Amino acid sequence: MARGDDRKPKDSLKTLGVWLILVAATVMLVIVVRVDSSREDSPALRVKSARPVVVKPSVNSERPSKTPIAPPTIRVNLTPGGESSLQLEIRGPYTVRRIGGTRELGKGARLAPAKVVANKTEIRIGSVSYPETQLEVVSKDDPGMRVNNHLYRGVIRLCRRTDGLISAVNVLPMEEYLASVVDSEMPAAFPEAARQAQAIVSRTYALYQKEHADPAAVYDLFSTQRSQKYLGVEYTTDSGRRLAGESASSRAAVAATRGMVCMKNAKLFCTYYSAVCGGRTTSGAGVFADASDLISVPCEWCHESDHYRWTVPFERADFSKKTQQLTSLPKITSVRQTAGPGTGVISRFRLADGAKTAEANGIELRDRLGLRSPHFALVIEKDKVRAEGRGHGHGVGFCQWGARGQGLAGKTVKEIVAHYYPGTELKKLDY
Ligand SMILES: [Zn+2]
Repeated sequence: MARGDDRKPKDSLKTLGVWLILVAATVMLVIVVRVDSSREDSPALRVKSARPVVVKPSVNSERPSKTPIAPPTIRVNLTPGGESSLQLEIRGPYTVRRIGGTRELGKGARLAPAKVVANKTEIRIGSVSYPETQLEVVSKDDPGMRVNNHLYRGVIRLCRRTDGLISAVNVLPMEEYLASVVDSEMPAAFPEAARQAQAIVSRTYALYQKEHADPAAVYDLFSTQRSQKYLGVEYTTDSGRRLAGESASSRAAVAATRGMVCMKNAKLFCTYYSAVCGGRTTSGAGVFADASDLISVPCEWCHESDHYRWTVPFERADFSKKTQQLTSLPKITSVRQTAGPGTGVISRFRLADGAKTAEANGIELRDRLGLRSPHFALVIEKDKVRAEGRGHGHGVGFCQWGARGQGLAGKTVKEIVAHYYPGTELKKLDY
């Protein structure tokens, strides 16, 4: 018999009373602690778990304002543009179901590498056909699913597109996604402050994309640099090398900044970023439709990058050929710079071929010439044209190499983020 069972009823009541007092005291203490912490913090923030994400400050500061919220998830499109087929491997038990449904449409103990294809009426996984538009594959092991040589956490959604191609979308908790993004986007050798700043910038970017995704879309962002790079837990290169897509270090950078985002006027800020700004970040206006709040700031911190300054020579005939579709000028004879570089705006040029002239900007010319950034000067010498450029990437917002320089100089995470996004502040979402 258990010792407690022979207690007298009166003792039990007394014990119950003591417990009730203790519980009440604990509840009071928790409330007091919460009120105190809400005074110290900025207005508490809430994120609805259902899309779109709404982040707003508490309207009543009298009430305890920090209410834990469900950690957000993110839907990452692993196949921008769709694929005619992809490979799926599941190393443990799995089920196949409709998105949001619980009824099993299929299951297995494991799935050896299988080809996934779609046609106008079905999705086929290996030899099994599913007459569905979208499927969700759930693995018992996490991470447990490999799509095209990348191992992922979370679930995989397969979507049949109207053009008959197949898309794979990885749905997983935001913080787990970010652990891979930090390592995919920034070298492990960069200072901890820079990597934590990257985690905040990437979290904000992802939540902003989720908030602004088309309600009909089946994903929030892409796994490539079109959005931000996400390699998964690990991946195998074309040459067969198996590499990690996340690490203890990237997980630590994410954990240290959990829920932290960059906001302006109580709204998520659109935190565009690039690898190397080249000495001055680019004004977002005129580059991205949703980046007009991103102003140009000086950044001497990225000068140790190999891309800080660069030169690419062209034969003049080759230069004319590569740009002719854009300019309609068969032989360029002179170039006049009308904007940039180094002024915080995209470079612009007036190109001439004898009597005819054409306008072109750095983004258009970068695409055609395969340059590292849209920030460059063009110098014509005899039969050569030289592009003298700055930085790597569009240059808008946070500069990754600049964050490295600032981290090495002892700047804090907060200082680094604030430098590139003036007028914003860091807030912590309570999840
Ligand atoms: Zn920079």
